[in-house]
Amino acid sequence: MFEDFFNVVKKRFNDGEEEYKPPMFKCPRCQGTSPLSKYEELHRVCPKCNYHGRLSSTERIAITVDKGSFRELNGGMKSANPLDFPDYSEKQAELRAATGLSEAVITGTATIKGSPVVIGIMDSRFMMGSMGSVVGEKITRAFEYATEKKLPVVMFTASGGARMQEGIVSLMQMAKTSGAVKLHSEAGGLYISVMTDPTTGGVTASFASLGDIIIAEPKVLIGFAGRRVIEGTIKQKLPDDFQLAEFMYTKGFVDMIVERRKLRSVLSHLLKLHGFYPKEA
Ligand SMILES: [Zn+2]
Repeated sequence: MFEDFFNVVKKRFNDGEEEYKPPMFKCPRCQGTSPLSKYEELHRVCPKCNYHGRLSSTERIAITVDKGSFRELNGGMKSANPLDFPDYSEKQAELRAATGLSEAVITGTATIKGSPVVIGIMDSRFMMGSMGSVVGEKITRAFEYATEKKLPVVMFTASGGARMQEGIVSLMQMAKTSGAVKLHSEAGGLYISVMTDPTTGGVTASFASLGDIIIAEPKVLIGFAGRRVIEGTIKQKLPDDFQLAEFMYTKGFVDMIVERRKLRSVLSHLLKLHGFYPKEA
């Protein structure tokens, strides 16, 4: 009994003495640690090596568009299970509850420093941002809306590619989204694609690569098939920076590499350069 009493006293004493340790962020790239608050203040960029961590669609909207300007389009759409794929419906229900998202992309209208845009943001937390029928449909409708209203489109991509649980239906989204981009382009529309980590598979192979201007955040992974698959197929060792934004930039696949802290300004400049000025009050 005395021992218990002693432990309680000791615990209280230690609690009071314990130094406050702020939560830390350990960078997966440089392995350096920095206070989590600093990392978050920089919108998930490592203060030591400029590693750009992944953002949720909500965080991306908050740092990109003018406060309070975002209006969601087609928010309530949910995927069916067209192939009757085992556990697919349950998995989606779980993710909806865990992330608060209805699907892997959010689309809507907003302003960026006053310039009006139709914006889409993919969210890698929802089934790796994979493109199924609803993702494809929301992106297609966003482009159609932009074509009708003569608005520019800014699309933030982050995706593992086509959604295998929807098989051929998900592959069809590549053609459908590309068709909508084409019609928007033919009507004279401006489309800025912003590739974020990771942009791969059927998303790279469709609307992500069709921007009039293609921007990438530093060091993001951009590709179609993965490195191991390609190395296995061609029986050659690939360069270390293969599929990184910088490599894609040197090959002409990406037009600009823009750090996250400058993205909003760069987008605003590009929009104004193409005649999309803030509406006069
Ligand atoms: Zn780092």
